[in-house]
Amino acid sequence: MTIGTDILRPDQILTPDQVARGMTGDAGVVTTTVEKAVNWARSNAVWPALFGLACCAIEMMHTQASRQDLSRFGMEVMRASPRQSDMIIVAGRLSRKMAPVIRRIYDQMPEPKWVISMGDCASCGGVFNNYALVQGVDEIIPVDVYVPGCPPRPEALIQGILKLHEKIQAEKLDGWRDRAPQDDRA
Ligand code: SF4
Repeated sequence: MTIGTDILRPDQILTPDQVARGMTGDAGVVTTTVEKAVNWARSNAVWPALFGLACCAIEMMHTQASRQDLSRFGMEVMRASPRQSDMIIVAGRLSRKMAPVIRRIYDQMPEPKWVISMGDCASCGGVFNNYALVQGVDEIIPVDVYVPGCPPRPEALIQGILKLHEKIQAEKLDGWRDRAPQDDRA
């Protein structure tokens, strides 16, 4: 690549890590890998499914509102269709009657997809240790991030979302295939 008649020297081409440290290249060229670029795009445009189960969902709605503003993470649109979602926040206690429903919603979401378990009830049943409630949503669907609390404050949910971003950015390009159910594999 040339600018005018000059050929770029290697020290004029920056890696993303150097850019993150504040370095600027003379020629404004940044190199990266497809994997890093794809993971960056995926992690900054996660579309959550519109789904709430109990009191934790109120905090999730607060997180989505203007004071917290999830749109800065590219998450301002909660999708009403699982087919347009790649993340689900399980916000609240999950009854056994509701378990097949959440499994169906999860199965209808396209890969790659991620799950946040929000609150003690979703993660382990919370104070409801009884026959009517699932004692942890990970009995039904795989969970990527657990957010503790009863209910977790919006800041805690945002921390969980940032943890999910870190996880997505460290994924292999087709790493989601390893955890996909057998019949979903290409
Ligand atoms: S963790 Fe607390 S706030 Fe959340 S669903 Fe359970 S009881 Fe409600």
